[in-house]
Amino acid sequence: MQRLSRIELMRISLTIALMIVLAGLWLGRVSAQDKITVVYGGGRTSVEFSAWLVDPQSDELYLRANDVAKIFKATQFWNASSRKVVLGIERKRFTLTVDTRVVVIDGEPIMMHNPIRYEAGFVMIPMEFVVEIAAPFTPSVLEWDRPSLTLRVDKVGYNVGELSFASTGDRSTATVSLNEPLIHHVESDTPGLVRLKIYGGRIDADKFNIREARGLFNGVRAEQTERDAYIYFDVTKQATRVRVEREDSPPRLVVILEKGDLPEIPEPEFAGRKRVEIVDSAGGVRRSLSVDVVVLDPGHGGKDNGKMGGNGVLEKDVNLRIAEKTRELLREELNVEVIMTREDDRLLSLTRRTEIANEGKGDLFISIHCNSWFSTQAGGFEAYFLSPARTEWDRAVAMAENAADDFMDGGGDVVSDIDFILWDMVQAEYLSESSHFAELTQKAMNDRLDIRNRGVKQANFTVLQGARMPAVLIETAFLSNPREESMLTDMAFQRKVAEGIVDAVRQFRERYQ
Ligand SMILES: [Zn+2]
Repeated sequence: MQRLSRIELMRISLTIALMIVLAGLWLGRVSAQDKITVVYGGGRTSVEFSAWLVDPQSDELYLRANDVAKIFKATQFWNASSRKVVLGIERKRFTLTVDTRVVVIDGEPIMMHNPIRYEAGFVMIPMEFVVEIAAPFTPSVLEWDRPSLTLRVDKVGYNVGELSFASTGDRSTATVSLNEPLIHHVESDTPGLVRLKIYGGRIDADKFNIREARGLFNGVRAEQTERDAYIYFDVTKQATRVRVEREDSPPRLVVILEKGDLPEIPEPEFAGRKRVEIVDSAGGVRRSLSVDVVVLDPGHGGKDNGKMGGNGVLEKDVNLRIAEKTRELLREELNVEVIMTREDDRLLSLTRRTEIANEGKGDLFISIHCNSWFSTQAGGFEAYFLSPARTEWDRAVAMAENAADDFMDGGGDVVSDIDFILWDMVQAEYLSESSHFAELTQKAMNDRLDIRNRGVKQANFTVLQGARMPAVLIETAFLSNPREESMLTDMAFQRKVAEGIVDAVRQFRERYQ
């Protein structure tokens, strides 16, 4: 092989240099180049990345996909033919397609305000992706300060801490330490198993994997989902009652298992184990909550149509139909008084809805809505209850989403509906009842509806004054999904939703009365 002459070498390096200059000019043409500083761990280390203003119309800064991957320590894959970049962040796959605003997170699409771009050989990703889309999936808090071009990344890590056990003669406790106060829900639907759900919990599941008996506990395992943490306690047959006490300083959850008062009746090993009775906290005294008056709130009305389906079905109409059916069934089957915030097609302020509920001395508030998303594929039902914003960032997101563009309406993981201002009416006092009712509703719907169960979610709003009752908001199905749009107009489907709500109210009343 002939060695390259000096002249050829110079020519090649000149060409490369020229290409670099041209690339720089090209980028210079599309943008003003800036450096953003990423500060980790309160200033321990910092890294600078180049940022560009790609779109002349928008003020959004863009980073190269490579640099975004560095910020999140992500794996990165680029498919040139489909012009997609896939980022693997915290076991989630984020698929971004050049010249679109769509990000698909493990199959679920989310729409950004700004498109992904391809400029001068680089995939360019808007800061919005970094701060708003990807960050919530990581155990870090990201704070973006645009004026100083500084992105602060602080690890918050797990908020569910340690697990410890204690036992006396007929009682065993498992104490779960928390790094911040979190809301929980306890269930024992499967014999021998107590399931503790911690809303917004981030747990190191491996650490909670205990395979040996501790008093009345036979073993423990944990699971992390996108939003919540679950701890499963395997309990012995002798354990007949469980209650969970929530302590706020320091924040922790204490799971208390007790043996029954009656002498144990010997059972053959193969006999099914009984369920564990759940006793409410506050020293085991079950709080009495009468459910005599149920407030039904059909969302929207009048010139506020709510969401609209592809075939023109209006959310306000569907909400009212479902509320009417629910009222009928509630009266017939449970003999409760029902107050409707509206009985016809009228515009009603959110404050007025709250007033009607409070003036009527409601015991339970159920707001009925339909969901919507830009993708026709998205579907299913979900129930929301209120929780206070967990961080300043959560609050900011929730507030921003309230005023979001139409395409953000009603979808995604952040609460995006102006509807949620309603939640101001709920006080922290009713959080556990509200979450409990939301869980009951979700389960009742799951038993009846042949659509996806999207789970119980918490709306991250700061709790304000004026609360009088537990409350949930139900997103029945998606108007943006053609199949679900036609379901929502179907009387049989509407009736099933109504039956689900009535069933949840019945169970809720039985538990608290
Ligand atoms: Zn709505």
